[in-house]
Amino acid sequence: MPTSSADDGATTGGAGRYAPSPSGELHVGNLRTAVLAWLFARTTGREFALRVDDLDRVRPGAAQRQLDDLAAIGLDWDGPVVYQSERLPHYAAAVDALTAAGRTYECFCTRREIQQAATAPHGPLGAYPGTCRDLTEDQRAAKRAEGRTAAIRLRSEVDEYEVSDLLHGRYRGAVDDLVLRRGDGVPAYNLTVVVDDAAQGVDQVVRGADLLPSTPRQAYLAELLGLPVPTYAHVPLVLNEEGKRLAKRDGAVSLSDQLALGHTPADLVAAIAGSLGYSARTTAELRDVFDATRIPTKPWILEPIGLFRPGRCP
Ligand code: GLU
Repeated sequence: MPTSSADDGATTGGAGRYAPSPSGELHVGNLRTAVLAWLFARTTGREFALRVDDLDRVRPGAAQRQLDDLAAIGLDWDGPVVYQSERLPHYAAAVDALTAAGRTYECFCTRREIQQAATAPHGPLGAYPGTCRDLTEDQRAAKRAEGRTAAIRLRSEVDEYEVSDLLHGRYRGAVDDLVLRRGDGVPAYNLTVVVDDAAQGVDQVVRGADLLPSTPRQAYLAELLGLPVPTYAHVPLVLNEEGKRLAKRDGAVSLSDQLALGHTPADLVAAIAGSLGYSARTTAELRDVFDATRIPTKPWILEPIGLFRPGRCP
């Protein structure tokens, strides 16, 4: 049975996954994370699942381009690609189950109200202060009569939760009354990721280190829903020379940018392999030499000029 404890690398029969948001083109940082997720899965006997997190920030055509880019650099996946937009009843069922267990409440706060309350000097930074947690039925009815639409929040019974991460060790982080369904009816990321990973048999979550702070919330939610907590590995991000997260404006950072400059997908794989300390030009070669215990723990600082010069290890 999968747990949040460290993975000994043994074959599990579970799955790893990559779950991009189709908000634009994947850049080399996203592609590197995808390669790492694939390597972790493929070197531990796991399947590799792909999911398109398309409930928010969708740019038309982006999902297919992202899948094409992943295939072009040599990643393969098992089973059909899962689209979150086709799974709304599953998220609703999870919210209903939590509601039936008395673990949710309606929240009528506007974003502005939350921001103002969250800057008050109490509670974990940015945590929801619980304004709507104990509203009476009359108060709720009055809010509805004002025309406010309610988000659904988790009624959390903990302030913190601990997870285990292959790269970060034991990690304790804040858990607040997180949003499960937004006021506009869209299920929230922290819920959908938990529901989907379980549905896809994912027992190994490899993703960017920026998502580590969300992980205690997700693991707690999984426990509440009676779902297994996967093994986590939050891998270092790729940053620009200023130490900021890589973005489109940083130059030729996507595969199509690179192809337009006359480079090949193998050049991009070689650059990613080089950033991990390997010399390889295909993901299959990389898989043969990959050692998950030797992943650099520091971000990869991208020097755009040198990145795709063949043979150069960034
Ligand atoms: N779709 C999310 C993103 O691209 C990632 C979700 C996840 O890996 O848990 O940021």
